[in-house]
Amino acid sequence: MDNYTNMHFKQKYIISQQWLTAPSKRRSGIALSPGVKFIVAHDTGNPGSTASGNVRYYERSRDEISASAHLFVDDKQILECIPALTTDRPEKAWHVIYNVVTDNHLFNYNANDAAIGVEYCYGDNINADEAYKKYLWVIAYICYKFSLDPAVSVVGHHFLDPKRKTDPLTGLAYSRRSYEQLLRDIVREYNDCTGIAAKEYTFQPNEGTAITAVQLNLRKGEPSTKADVLQTLPAGIVLNYTGWVSDGAVINGNAKWYKDINGNYFWSGGVRDLEKKKQNELV
Ligand SMILES: [Zn+2]
Repeated sequence: MDNYTNMHFKQKYIISQQWLTAPSKRRSGIALSPGVKFIVAHDTGNPGSTASGNVRYYERSRDEISASAHLFVDDKQILECIPALTTDRPEKAWHVIYNVVTDNHLFNYNANDAAIGVEYCYGDNINADEAYKKYLWVIAYICYKFSLDPAVSVVGHHFLDPKRKTDPLTGLAYSRRSYEQLLRDIVREYNDCTGIAAKEYTFQPNEGTAITAVQLNLRKGEPSTKADVLQTLPAGIVLNYTGWVSDGAVINGNAKWYKDINGNYFWSGGVRDLEKKKQNELV
């Protein structure tokens, strides 16, 4: 992928390396095969535990338990305990059980063979904003380093193993954030750190009125499903628009989005255009 070779990624933080002793139950020393294909977002499930505390615990219990993740992130540091980012030979960690199948369906591989696991530390003693910023950055950086699309390459542990796991939802909720927000913020962080400009849309001014035909999201500032949801509207709501773009995010083959008076967008496929209806009635 040539477009990645000349790109640079903003080095906002340092990744500290504190590799566990190998071979051990926690760190096998086996390389990821076929390489890094996706990222699993975790939280520690242990409020108040820090990155260094978790890695010290891993090291102490390295021959007892075969659960592990590559990186721990708190407000103070990003700590790598299984080779992932600071090496050319990322190794396996044991962070998603093998007998779930969602990872295979989504990414064609078991997470333990092809994914980097990143743990979010949270709790009253941890500054959530600082920890969250570092968490976004390191996940975006993994995407950059391994040429992964940040929009589709990150998945939460809860999504892969819903019967047993709630991370990273629990940790994020503790920090007043949602999983959907995390996924969007990772893309923003990636764009910011790679210097990729936000997409520019061609606006066509043309005032009119539409009515929601289905439940529909009003998106903040951008005609895209990656933009924040300001409000989810039920069917039957009348909306005024100032015009539209025809080059927004494509949904069901339709890239036309209406812009409201506040600069927010709703997808044209989810509304009936009242002006058009009037015109049709006249014919
Ligand atoms: Zn997990």
